[in-house]
Amino acid sequence: MMNFSLSAAQEELRTRAREFARTEVLPASWHYDERDEIPLFLLERAREEGFLNHDIPVEYGGLGLGILDSVLISEEIAAACPGVATSVFDNSLGFEPLLLCRNEALKKDYFRRIREEGKYICFATSEPTMGSNVAGMRCQAKPDGDDFLLNGTKFWITNGGIADYMTVFATVDPQAGHKGIGAFLVEKSWEGVEVGEHIPKLGQRCSNTAGLHFRNVRVPRHNVIAPPGEGFALAMKTFARTRPVIGAFAVGAARSAMEYAIDYAKKRQAFGAPLANFQAIQFKIAEMYQKVETARLLVWKAAWEADAGHDPTISASIAKMVATETAMEVVNEALQIFGGYGYTRMFPLEKLLRDVRLFTIYEGTSEIQRMVLAGHALEKYVPAMPALDQFPLMRGMDLNPKDSTQGSSGAWRCRMCGHIHYGDEAPAQCPLCFFPQTAFKRVWPADGEE
Ligand SMILES: Cc1cc2nc3c(=O)[nH]c(=O)nc-3n(C[C@H](O)[C@H](O)[C@H](O)COP(=O)(O)OP(=O)(O)OC[C@H]3O[C@@H](n4cnc5c(N)ncnc54)[C@H](O)[C@@H]3O)c2cc1C
Repeated sequence: MMNFSLSAAQEELRTRAREFARTEVLPASWHYDERDEIPLFLLERAREEGFLNHDIPVEYGGLGLGILDSVLISEEIAAACPGVATSVFDNSLGFEPLLLCRNEALKKDYFRRIREEGKYICFATSEPTMGSNVAGMRCQAKPDGDDFLLNGTKFWITNGGIADYMTVFATVDPQAGHKGIGAFLVEKSWEGVEVGEHIPKLGQRCSNTAGLHFRNVRVPRHNVIAPPGEGFALAMKTFARTRPVIGAFAVGAARSAMEYAIDYAKKRQAFGAPLANFQAIQFKIAEMYQKVETARLLVWKAAWEADAGHDPTISASIAKMVATETAMEVVNEALQIFGGYGYTRMFPLEKLLRDVRLFTIYEGTSEIQRMVLAGHALEKYVPAMPALDQFPLMRGMDLNPKDSTQGSSGAWRCRMCGHIHYGDEAPAQCPLCFFPQTAFKRVWPADGEE
Protein backbone atom coordinates (compact mmCIF):
# COMPACT_ATOMS: atom_id res chain seq x y z
CA MET A 1 0.00 0.00 0.00
CA MET A 2 1.21 3.53 -0.77
CA ASN A 3 1.35 5.84 2.21
CA PHE A 4 2.52 9.44 2.34
CA SER A 5 1.71 10.06 5.97
CA LEU A 6 4.36 10.45 8.65
CA SER A 7 4.40 8.41 11.83
CA ALA A 8 3.47 10.11 15.11
CA ALA A 9 7.17 10.08 16.07
CA GLN A 10 8.11 11.77 12.77
CA GLU A 11 5.39 14.41 13.20
CA GLU A 12 6.73 15.12 16.66
CA LEU A 13 10.33 15.28 15.34
CA ARG A 14 9.28 17.75 12.66
CA THR A 15 7.39 19.92 15.12
CA ARG A 16 10.40 20.06 17.45
CA ALA A 17 12.78 20.83 14.58
CA ARG A 18 10.46 23.61 13.38
CA GLU A 19 10.33 25.11 16.83
CA PHE A 20 14.12 24.99 17.14
CA ALA A 21 14.50 26.55 13.67
CA ARG A 22 12.02 29.38 14.37
CA THR A 23 13.04 30.29 17.87
CA GLU A 24 16.79 29.64 17.88
CA VAL A 25 18.23 29.40 14.36
CA LEU A 26 16.28 32.19 12.65
CA PRO A 27 17.06 35.00 15.12
CA ALA A 28 20.79 34.20 15.22
CA SER A 29 21.52 33.41 11.59
CA TRP A 30 21.35 36.95 10.17
CA HIS A 31 23.89 38.19 12.66
CA TYR A 32 26.30 35.32 12.01
CA ASP A 33 25.84 35.66 8.25
CA GLU A 34 26.93 39.30 8.50
CA ARG A 35 29.97 38.22 10.50
CA ASP A 36 30.75 35.31 8.14
CA GLU A 37 31.01 33.06 11.16
CA ILE A 38 29.61 29.67 12.12
CA PRO A 39 27.26 29.89 15.14
CA LEU A 40 28.84 26.98 17.00
CA PHE A 41 26.39 27.29 19.87
CA LEU A 42 23.57 26.33 17.47
CA LEU A 43 25.41 23.14 16.54
CA GLU A 44 25.73 22.35 20.23
CA ARG A 45 22.04 23.07 20.75
CA ALA A 46 21.18 20.87 17.74
CA ARG A 47 23.19 18.09 19.32
CA GLU A 48 21.33 18.50 22.63
CA GLU A 49 18.01 18.36 20.80
CA GLY A 50 18.98 15.22 18.87
CA PHE A 51 19.11 16.97 15.48
CA LEU A 52 22.85 16.31 15.07
CA ASN A 53 24.20 12.72 15.19
CA HIS A 54 20.56 11.53 15.20
CA ASP A 55 21.41 8.86 12.60
CA ILE A 56 24.13 7.06 14.57
CA PRO A 57 22.77 3.48 14.68
CA VAL A 58 21.30 2.13 17.89
CA GLU A 59 23.96 -0.61 18.09
CA TYR A 60 26.56 2.14 18.46
CA GLY A 61 24.56 3.94 21.12
CA GLY A 62 22.79 6.39 18.81
CA LEU A 63 19.14 7.24 18.16
CA GLY A 64 19.17 5.20 14.94
CA LEU A 65 17.02 7.63 12.96
CA GLY A 66 16.78 7.25 9.19
CA ILE A 67 17.23 9.40 6.09
CA LEU A 68 13.57 10.45 6.08
CA ASP A 69 14.05 11.71 9.63
CA SER A 70 17.16 13.63 8.47
CA VAL A 71 15.07 15.08 5.65
CA LEU A 72 12.36 16.27 8.06
CA ILE A 73 14.87 17.88 10.43
CA SER A 74 16.86 19.43 7.58
CA GLU A 75 13.89 21.00 5.79
CA GLU A 76 12.99 22.85 8.98
CA ILE A 77 16.49 24.06 9.86
CA ALA A 78 17.21 25.10 6.27
CA ALA A 79 13.94 27.03 6.17
CA ALA A 80 15.49 29.23 8.86
CA CYS A 81 19.10 29.15 7.62
CA PRO A 82 20.58 26.93 4.89
CA GLY A 83 24.11 27.55 6.19
CA VAL A 84 23.28 26.30 9.68
CA ALA A 85 21.48 23.28 8.15
CA THR A 86 24.60 22.47 6.10
CA SER A 87 26.84 22.57 9.15
CA VAL A 88 24.43 20.63 11.38
CA PHE A 89 24.03 17.84 8.82
CA ASP A 90 27.76 17.76 8.05
CA ASN A 91 28.48 15.33 10.90
CA SER A 92 26.12 12.84 9.24
CA LEU A 93 27.88 13.37 5.90
CA GLY A 94 31.24 12.94 7.64
CA PHE A 95 30.33 9.66 9.32
CA GLU A 96 28.13 8.18 6.56
CA PRO A 97 31.17 6.33 5.05
CA LEU A 98 31.93 4.97 8.53
CA LEU A 99 28.33 3.85 8.87
CA LEU A 100 28.51 2.06 5.50
CA CYS A 101 31.95 0.47 5.97
CA ARG A 102 32.90 -3.00 7.24
CA ASN A 103 35.47 -1.91 9.85
CA GLU A 104 33.52 -2.78 13.02
CA ALA A 105 36.32 -1.86 15.42
CA LEU A 106 36.54 1.61 13.87
CA LYS A 107 32.78 2.08 14.06
CA LYS A 108 32.64 1.14 17.74
CA ASP A 109 35.56 3.36 18.56
CA TYR A 110 34.62 6.55 16.69
CA PHE A 111 30.82 6.47 16.97
CA ARG A 112 31.32 6.35 20.73
CA ARG A 113 33.70 9.30 20.67
CA ILE A 114 31.53 11.33 18.29
CA ARG A 115 28.51 10.71 20.50
CA GLU A 116 29.98 10.89 23.99
CA GLU A 117 32.72 13.46 23.44
CA GLY A 118 30.73 15.71 21.09
CA LYS A 119 33.27 15.48 18.29
CA TYR A 120 32.76 16.96 14.85
CA ILE A 121 33.63 15.02 11.72
CA CYS A 122 33.85 16.37 8.16
CA PHE A 123 33.84 14.73 4.72
CA ALA A 124 36.68 15.36 2.28
CA THR A 125 36.78 14.26 -1.35
CA SER A 126 37.22 17.60 -3.15
CA GLU A 127 40.61 19.16 -3.85
CA PRO A 128 41.81 22.49 -5.26
CA THR A 129 42.16 20.94 -8.73
CA MET A 130 39.06 18.74 -8.79
CA GLY A 131 35.58 18.39 -7.36
CA SER A 132 33.23 16.78 -9.86
CA ASN A 133 35.71 14.22 -11.11
CA VAL A 134 36.18 12.32 -7.84
CA ALA A 135 38.22 9.63 -9.61
CA GLY A 136 40.76 12.32 -10.54
CA MET A 137 41.90 13.04 -6.98
CA ARG A 138 45.59 13.53 -6.28
CA CYS A 139 45.80 13.34 -2.49
CA GLN A 140 47.98 10.30 -1.92
CA ALA A 141 47.80 7.45 0.57
CA LYS A 142 51.10 5.58 0.37
CA PRO A 143 51.19 2.14 2.02
CA ASP A 144 53.88 2.04 4.75
CA GLY A 145 53.94 -1.29 6.52
CA ASP A 146 50.47 -1.72 8.00
CA ASP A 147 49.91 2.04 7.89
CA PHE A 148 49.33 4.62 5.17
CA LEU A 149 51.10 7.95 4.77
CA LEU A 150 48.80 10.75 3.61
CA ASN A 151 50.10 13.60 1.47
CA GLY A 152 48.02 16.21 -0.32
CA THR A 153 45.31 18.84 0.01
CA LYS A 154 41.54 18.76 0.35
CA PHE A 155 39.56 21.91 -0.39
CA TRP A 156 36.07 23.34 0.20
CA ILE A 157 35.59 21.16 3.26
CA THR A 158 32.44 22.04 5.19
CA ASN A 159 33.20 22.28 8.92
CA GLY A 160 36.87 21.72 8.00
CA GLY A 161 37.85 24.48 10.41
CA ILE A 162 35.98 23.03 13.39
CA ALA A 163 36.12 19.27 12.81
CA ASP A 164 38.02 17.00 15.18
CA TYR A 165 37.90 14.11 12.71
CA MET A 166 38.04 13.96 8.93
CA THR A 167 36.87 11.28 6.54
CA VAL A 168 39.53 11.67 3.88
CA PHE A 169 39.41 10.03 0.46
CA ALA A 170 42.86 9.51 -1.05
CA THR A 171 44.49 7.38 -3.71
CA VAL A 172 47.42 4.98 -3.74
CA ASP A 173 48.02 5.97 -7.36
CA PRO A 174 46.60 9.10 -9.04
CA GLN A 175 46.94 7.35 -12.42
CA ALA A 176 44.70 4.47 -11.31
CA GLY A 177 41.46 6.51 -11.32
CA HIS A 178 38.69 5.13 -9.16
CA LYS A 179 40.61 1.86 -8.67
CA GLY A 180 43.20 3.51 -6.44
CA ILE A 181 40.91 5.34 -4.02
CA GLY A 182 40.51 4.45 -0.35
CA ALA A 183 38.98 6.26 2.64
CA PHE A 184 40.67 7.06 5.94
CA LEU A 185 39.55 8.44 9.27
CA VAL A 186 42.05 11.14 10.24
CA GLU A 187 42.25 13.14 13.46
CA LYS A 188 42.96 16.85 13.35
CA SER A 189 45.42 16.51 16.23
CA TRP A 190 47.70 14.13 14.33
CA GLU A 191 51.12 15.30 13.27
CA GLY A 192 51.21 16.73 9.76
CA VAL A 193 47.54 17.80 9.62
CA GLU A 194 47.06 21.47 8.83
CA VAL A 195 43.74 23.33 8.62
CA GLY A 196 43.43 26.34 6.30
CA GLU A 197 41.76 29.64 7.02
CA HIS A 198 37.99 29.95 6.55
CA ILE A 199 37.16 30.42 2.85
CA PRO A 200 35.03 33.57 2.34
CA LYS A 201 31.83 32.84 0.37
CA LEU A 202 28.83 34.42 -1.38
CA GLY A 203 26.33 32.68 0.89
CA GLN A 204 25.93 29.98 3.53
CA ARG A 205 28.24 32.16 5.57
CA CYS A 206 26.93 30.48 8.74
CA SER A 207 28.73 27.32 7.66
CA ASN A 208 32.46 26.94 7.96
CA THR A 209 34.45 25.99 4.84
CA ALA A 210 38.19 25.32 4.87
CA GLY A 211 41.03 23.49 3.16
CA LEU A 212 42.94 20.64 4.79
CA HIS A 213 46.56 19.83 4.16
CA PHE A 214 48.31 16.56 4.95
CA ARG A 215 52.07 16.21 5.12
CA ASN A 216 53.27 12.65 5.83
CA VAL A 217 50.28 12.02 8.08
CA ARG A 218 50.53 8.48 9.43
CA VAL A 219 47.14 6.70 9.32
CA PRO A 220 47.13 3.42 11.27
CA ARG A 221 45.43 0.38 9.78
CA HIS A 222 42.70 0.68 12.43
CA ASN A 223 41.59 3.94 10.77
CA VAL A 224 41.10 2.60 7.24
CA ILE A 225 37.41 3.11 6.42
CA ALA A 226 37.77 1.60 2.95
CA PRO A 227 40.90 -0.02 1.53
CA PRO A 228 42.29 1.29 -1.78
CA GLY A 229 39.97 0.25 -4.59
CA GLU A 230 36.83 0.51 -2.45
CA GLY A 231 36.81 4.23 -1.64
CA PHE A 232 35.22 5.50 -4.84
CA ALA A 233 32.18 3.22 -4.57
CA LEU A 234 31.87 4.17 -0.90
CA ALA A 235 31.86 7.89 -1.78
CA MET A 236 29.12 7.28 -4.38
CA LYS A 237 27.05 5.23 -1.91
CA THR A 238 27.45 8.03 0.59
CA PHE A 239 26.17 10.63 -1.88
CA ALA A 240 23.18 8.45 -2.74
CA ARG A 241 22.14 8.65 0.92
CA THR A 242 23.03 12.28 1.57
CA ARG A 243 21.74 13.91 -1.63
CA PRO A 244 18.08 13.59 -0.52
CA VAL A 245 19.03 15.72 2.48
CA ILE A 246 20.53 18.43 0.26
CA GLY A 247 17.19 18.29 -1.57
CA ALA A 248 15.47 18.82 1.78
CA PHE A 249 17.63 21.90 2.47
CA ALA A 250 16.42 23.25 -0.87
CA VAL A 251 12.76 22.48 -0.12
CA GLY A 252 13.05 24.25 3.24
CA ALA A 253 14.65 27.38 1.78
CA ALA A 254 12.16 27.52 -1.10
CA ARG A 255 9.26 27.03 1.28
CA SER A 256 10.23 29.92 3.49
CA ALA A 257 10.83 32.20 0.50
CA MET A 258 7.32 31.32 -0.71
CA GLU A 259 5.84 31.98 2.72
CA TYR A 260 7.54 35.40 2.96
CA ALA A 261 6.31 36.25 -0.56
CA ILE A 262 2.72 35.30 0.28
CA ASP A 263 2.82 37.43 3.41
CA TYR A 264 4.29 40.39 1.52
CA ALA A 265 1.88 40.06 -1.40
CA LYS A 266 -1.09 40.28 0.95
CA LYS A 267 0.19 43.43 2.62
CA ARG A 268 1.95 45.45 -0.05
CA GLN A 269 -0.30 47.79 -2.02
CA ALA A 270 0.22 48.75 -5.65
CA PHE A 271 -2.24 50.53 -7.97
CA GLY A 272 -4.70 50.72 -5.06
CA ALA A 273 -4.85 47.01 -4.28
CA PRO A 274 -2.75 44.36 -2.50
CA LEU A 275 -0.24 42.65 -4.78
CA ALA A 276 -2.01 39.36 -4.04
CA ASN A 277 -5.06 40.63 -5.97
CA PHE A 278 -3.15 40.68 -9.27
CA GLN A 279 -3.35 37.50 -11.27
CA ALA A 280 0.28 37.79 -12.39
CA ILE A 281 1.34 37.60 -8.72
CA GLN A 282 -1.18 34.85 -7.94
CA PHE A 283 0.27 32.74 -10.76
CA LYS A 284 3.79 33.24 -9.44
CA ILE A 285 2.61 32.04 -6.03
CA ALA A 286 0.84 29.05 -7.59
CA GLU A 287 4.05 28.11 -9.42
CA MET A 288 6.10 28.41 -6.24
CA TYR A 289 3.66 26.31 -4.28
CA GLN A 290 3.51 23.46 -6.79
CA LYS A 291 7.30 23.48 -7.15
CA VAL A 292 7.87 23.21 -3.40
CA GLU A 293 5.33 20.38 -3.10
CA THR A 294 6.75 18.54 -6.14
CA ALA A 295 10.31 18.81 -4.88
CA ARG A 296 9.33 17.55 -1.43
CA LEU A 297 7.66 14.47 -2.91
CA LEU A 298 10.84 13.60 -4.81
CA VAL A 299 12.97 14.15 -1.73
CA TRP A 300 10.73 11.96 0.43
CA LYS A 301 10.70 9.22 -2.20
CA ALA A 302 14.50 9.13 -2.36
CA ALA A 303 14.72 9.13 1.45
CA TRP A 304 12.15 6.35 1.65
CA GLU A 305 14.14 4.26 -0.84
CA ALA A 306 17.30 4.71 1.24
CA ASP A 307 15.52 3.74 4.47
CA ALA A 308 13.82 0.77 2.81
CA GLY A 309 17.21 -0.61 1.79
CA HIS A 310 16.78 -0.01 -1.95
CA ASP A 311 19.54 1.61 -3.99
CA PRO A 312 18.48 5.29 -3.89
CA THR A 313 21.13 6.52 -6.38
CA ILE A 314 18.79 7.55 -9.18
CA SER A 315 15.98 8.92 -7.03
CA ALA A 316 18.57 10.82 -4.98
CA SER A 317 20.00 12.45 -8.11
CA ILE A 318 16.53 13.38 -9.36
CA ALA A 319 15.55 14.76 -5.95
CA LYS A 320 18.76 16.74 -5.55
CA MET A 321 18.61 18.17 -9.07
CA VAL A 322 14.92 19.11 -9.06
CA ALA A 323 14.80 20.44 -5.49
CA THR A 324 17.96 22.54 -5.74
CA GLU A 325 16.96 24.07 -9.08
CA THR A 326 13.48 24.64 -7.66
CA ALA A 327 14.99 26.55 -4.75
CA MET A 328 16.82 28.89 -7.12
CA GLU A 329 13.65 29.56 -9.11
CA VAL A 330 11.35 29.97 -6.13
CA VAL A 331 13.65 32.23 -4.10
CA ASN A 332 14.32 34.35 -7.18
CA GLU A 333 10.59 34.77 -7.88
CA ALA A 334 9.88 35.50 -4.22
CA LEU A 335 12.50 38.24 -4.32
CA GLN A 336 10.81 39.64 -7.43
CA ILE A 337 7.50 39.90 -5.55
CA PHE A 338 9.28 41.99 -2.91
CA GLY A 339 10.38 44.46 -5.60
CA GLY A 340 13.19 46.76 -4.43
CA TYR A 341 12.85 45.62 -0.83
CA GLY A 342 13.74 42.09 -1.87
CA TYR A 343 17.13 43.35 -2.97
CA THR A 344 17.96 44.86 0.41
CA ARG A 345 19.54 43.29 3.44
CA MET A 346 16.55 44.35 5.57
CA PHE A 347 14.43 41.43 4.31
CA PRO A 348 15.36 37.73 4.27
CA LEU A 349 15.25 37.16 0.51
CA GLU A 350 18.72 38.35 -0.41
CA LYS A 351 20.33 36.03 2.16
CA LEU A 352 18.20 33.12 0.99
CA LEU A 353 19.16 33.79 -2.63
CA ARG A 354 22.86 33.82 -1.71
CA ASP A 355 22.44 30.69 0.40
CA VAL A 356 20.50 28.56 -2.10
CA ARG A 357 23.01 29.31 -4.85
CA LEU A 358 25.31 26.68 -3.35
CA PHE A 359 22.79 23.85 -3.54
CA THR A 360 23.30 23.18 -7.25
CA ILE A 361 27.07 23.05 -6.72
CA TYR A 362 28.03 20.93 -3.71
CA GLU A 363 27.43 17.17 -3.38
CA GLY A 364 27.48 16.89 -7.17
CA THR A 365 26.62 19.83 -9.39
CA SER A 366 23.41 19.89 -11.43
CA GLU A 367 25.51 18.93 -14.45
CA ILE A 368 26.82 15.86 -12.60
CA GLN A 369 23.26 14.84 -11.61
CA ARG A 370 22.31 15.07 -15.29
CA MET A 371 25.28 12.87 -16.19
CA VAL A 372 24.16 10.29 -13.61
CA LEU A 373 20.60 10.35 -14.95
CA ALA A 374 21.60 10.27 -18.61
CA GLY A 375 23.95 7.35 -17.95
CA HIS A 376 21.15 5.46 -16.23
CA ALA A 377 18.54 6.26 -18.88
CA LEU A 378 20.83 5.29 -21.75
CA GLU A 379 22.46 2.20 -20.27
CA LYS A 380 20.38 0.66 -17.51
CA TYR A 381 16.80 1.82 -17.84
CA VAL A 382 14.53 -1.05 -18.91
CA PRO A 383 11.87 0.20 -21.35
CA ALA A 384 8.26 -0.94 -21.19
CA MET A 385 7.59 -0.21 -24.85
CA PRO A 386 9.00 -2.31 -27.75
CA ALA A 387 12.06 -1.16 -29.68
CA LEU A 388 11.15 1.01 -32.66
CA ASP A 389 12.05 -1.65 -35.20
CA GLN A 390 9.60 -3.93 -33.40
CA PHE A 391 6.91 -1.29 -33.28
CA PRO A 392 3.50 -2.95 -33.70
CA LEU A 393 1.48 -2.22 -36.80
CA MET A 394 -0.92 0.67 -36.61
CA ARG A 395 -4.55 -0.10 -36.03
CA GLY A 396 -6.22 -1.35 -39.18
CA MET A 397 -2.94 -2.50 -40.67
CA ASP A 398 -2.63 -5.63 -38.59
CA LEU A 399 -5.71 -7.29 -40.04
CA ASN A 400 -5.44 -10.76 -41.35
CA PRO A 401 -4.39 -10.02 -44.93
CA LYS A 402 -7.04 -12.39 -46.23
CA ASP A 403 -9.71 -10.07 -44.81
CA SER A 404 -7.78 -6.88 -45.27
CA THR A 405 -8.22 -4.46 -48.11
CA GLN A 406 -4.47 -4.63 -48.52
CA GLY A 407 -4.82 -8.29 -49.44
CA SER A 408 -1.15 -8.98 -48.98
CA SER A 409 0.64 -11.78 -47.22
CA GLY A 410 3.17 -9.74 -45.25
CA ALA A 411 4.00 -6.31 -43.87
CA TRP A 412 7.44 -4.72 -43.96
CA ARG A 413 8.56 -1.67 -42.05
CA CYS A 414 11.25 0.72 -43.26
CA ARG A 415 13.62 1.13 -40.31
CA MET A 416 14.64 4.55 -41.56
CA CYS A 417 11.36 6.42 -42.06
CA GLY A 418 8.76 3.99 -40.59
CA HIS A 419 6.86 3.42 -43.85
CA ILE A 420 4.84 0.17 -43.92
CA HIS A 421 4.88 -1.81 -47.14
CA TYR A 422 2.43 -4.69 -47.75
CA GLY A 423 3.44 -7.51 -50.00
CA ASP A 424 5.20 -10.83 -50.19
CA GLU A 425 8.56 -9.15 -49.96
CA ALA A 426 10.09 -5.77 -49.22
CA PRO A 427 10.24 -3.28 -52.09
CA ALA A 428 13.54 -2.70 -53.90
CA GLN A 429 13.66 0.74 -52.30
CA CYS A 430 11.50 2.70 -49.92
CA PRO A 431 9.07 4.90 -51.87
CA LEU A 432 9.30 7.57 -49.15
CA CYS A 433 12.93 7.83 -48.09
CA PHE A 434 14.56 5.89 -50.97
CA PHE A 435 16.55 3.62 -48.65
CA PRO A 436 17.28 0.22 -50.21
CA GLN A 437 15.46 -3.02 -49.50
CA THR A 438 17.88 -3.84 -46.67
CA ALA A 439 16.30 -1.05 -44.63
CA PHE A 440 13.06 -3.07 -44.42
CA LYS A 441 12.20 -5.44 -41.61
CA ARG A 442 9.30 -7.85 -41.74
CA VAL A 443 6.85 -6.90 -39.02
CA TRP A 444 3.93 -9.10 -39.96
CA PRO A 445 3.61 -11.98 -39.57
CA ALA A 446 6.25 -11.76 -36.85
CA ASP A 447 8.84 -14.53 -36.68
CA GLY A 448 7.18 -17.68 -35.46
CA GLU A 449 3.66 -16.47 -36.27
CA GLU A 450 3.42 -17.87 -39.76
C1 LIG B 1 30.65 26.00 0.18
C2 LIG B 1 31.11 24.67 -0.32
C3 LIG B 1 31.13 23.59 0.54
C4 LIG B 1 31.61 22.36 0.10
N1 LIG B 1 31.71 21.32 0.99
C5 LIG B 1 32.39 20.19 0.61
C6 LIG B 1 32.68 19.16 1.55
O1 LIG B 1 32.29 19.24 2.72
N2 LIG B 1 33.41 18.10 1.14
C7 LIG B 1 33.86 17.98 -0.15
O2 LIG B 1 34.53 17.00 -0.45
N3 LIG B 1 33.59 18.94 -1.08
C8 LIG B 1 32.87 20.03 -0.73
N4 LIG B 1 32.59 21.02 -1.65
C9 LIG B 1 33.10 20.86 -3.01
C10 LIG B 1 32.00 20.63 -4.02
O3 LIG B 1 31.50 19.34 -3.88
C11 LIG B 1 32.58 20.93 -5.41
O4 LIG B 1 32.77 22.33 -5.50
C12 LIG B 1 31.69 20.44 -6.52
O5 LIG B 1 31.66 19.04 -6.52
C13 LIG B 1 32.16 20.94 -7.87
O6 LIG B 1 33.53 20.73 -8.04
P1 LIG B 1 34.48 21.92 -8.51
O7 LIG B 1 34.16 23.12 -7.71
O8 LIG B 1 35.87 21.42 -8.53
O9 LIG B 1 34.01 22.22 -9.99
P2 LIG B 1 34.52 21.44 -11.32
O10 LIG B 1 34.44 19.99 -11.10
O11 LIG B 1 35.80 22.04 -11.74
O12 LIG B 1 33.38 21.87 -12.34
C14 LIG B 1 33.24 23.21 -12.79
C15 LIG B 1 31.96 23.30 -13.64
O13 LIG B 1 32.06 22.40 -14.75
C16 LIG B 1 30.98 21.49 -14.72
N5 LIG B 1 31.46 20.19 -15.16
C17 LIG B 1 32.51 19.46 -14.67
N6 LIG B 1 32.62 18.32 -15.34
C18 LIG B 1 31.66 18.31 -16.30
C19 LIG B 1 31.26 17.39 -17.32
N7 LIG B 1 31.89 16.23 -17.48
N8 LIG B 1 30.22 17.71 -18.11
C20 LIG B 1 29.54 18.88 -17.92
N9 LIG B 1 29.88 19.80 -16.98
C21 LIG B 1 30.92 19.50 -16.18
C22 LIG B 1 30.53 21.44 -13.27
O14 LIG B 1 29.19 21.01 -13.16
C23 LIG B 1 30.72 22.89 -12.87
O15 LIG B 1 29.63 23.64 -13.32
C24 LIG B 1 32.05 22.22 -1.23
C25 LIG B 1 31.97 23.31 -2.12
C26 LIG B 1 31.53 24.52 -1.67
C27 LIG B 1 31.51 25.69 -2.63
